[in-house]
Amino acid sequence: MTAEIISGKDVAQAIRAELAKEVAALTQARGVIPGLVTVLVGEDPASVSYVTAKGKACEELGMRSFQHTLPATTSEAELLALVDQLNRDDRVHGILVQLPLPKQINESKVLLAIDPDKDVDGFHPVNVGRLMIGEEVFPPCTPAGIQELIVRSGTPTDGAELVVVGRSNIVGKPIAVMMLQKRAGANATVTVCHTRTKNMAEHTRRASILIVAAGKPKAVTADMVRPGATVIDVGVNRIGFSESGKARLVGDVDFEAVKEVAGKITPVPGGVGPMTITMLMRNTLRAATLRSGGTPGPAG
Ligand code: NAP
Repeated sequence: MTAEIISGKDVAQAIRAELAKEVAALTQARGVIPGLVTVLVGEDPASVSYVTAKGKACEELGMRSFQHTLPATTSEAELLALVDQLNRDDRVHGILVQLPLPKQINESKVLLAIDPDKDVDGFHPVNVGRLMIGEEVFPPCTPAGIQELIVRSGTPTDGAELVVVGRSNIVGKPIAVMMLQKRAGANATVTVCHTRTKNMAEHTRRASILIVAAGKPKAVTADMVRPGATVIDVGVNRIGFSESGKARLVGDVDFEAVKEVAGKITPVPGGVGPMTITMLMRNTLRAATLRSGGTPGPAG
């Protein structure tokens, strides 16, 4: 039987509708408009389009968006001075410095300079630590989107065998930690695989939830998937061009074959991708709610 497709587009749209209501309620009750600042250094085309999409999403939800575009020659000291100014600006609830940064700037130094209570990307070591001990304030956006897709697709997580392929700091490790927490929407038994894992298929075949974030097309093939499993494909790989001349995107999972084995599966594009910015909006709303003394909804 062919797997049910988990549409990230549809889930993201449903969450955005919920967030828009919460933003309106916060503004009405406390006179606070959540504000997100994006800082872009240089003109990398992919970064420009991400930053534009983030600004647009803010406006659609009734949030404020501010954008700082700095020249590629900006020094580390200049960027740190801007971050310091934004940390002290009360209209700003979330700060996002678009990565990658030019070579002359130390990324870790800049991420450390952001006020952890405005770190809506969730990459500051304080927030990474909070995530580890189950006190997540700003879960990193892509893992938070993955968790929402799992939960909202109706996949049981309690006691589930969950396997993550990939151990990066932005996807593999945080999603493994999040799904391990002792709480609803998590409580899974988690295994993390990577390039040194022996007999990876033996692990993946046990998984009732399989999350693949390897950055390699066809890293997971049909013979590696347990029948009926929920498969979340995080990968975004550009392989050649379609007839229209656009880059063709594929995930890390051999989608056509795996959908004949899995119970539920996310497509690429249209799966995890649309969730990431939505989770950034949710984190910005949480930051604004916390700063105004309110109690935010659950982080995941
Ligand atoms: P990354 O930093 O390159 O990490 C990839 C991880 O996968 C590494 O831990 C690597 O193992 C492991 N790996 C690679 N090939 C493998 C294989 N054949 N078998 C087992 N493990 C393998 O990548 P990332 O930043 O986590 O991103 C992963 C993918 O997700 C990329 O395609 C990226 O574009 C995509 N992504 C999508 C979104 C979104 O919003 N949709 C967001 C972030 C990332 P080692 O540690 O041993 O090298």
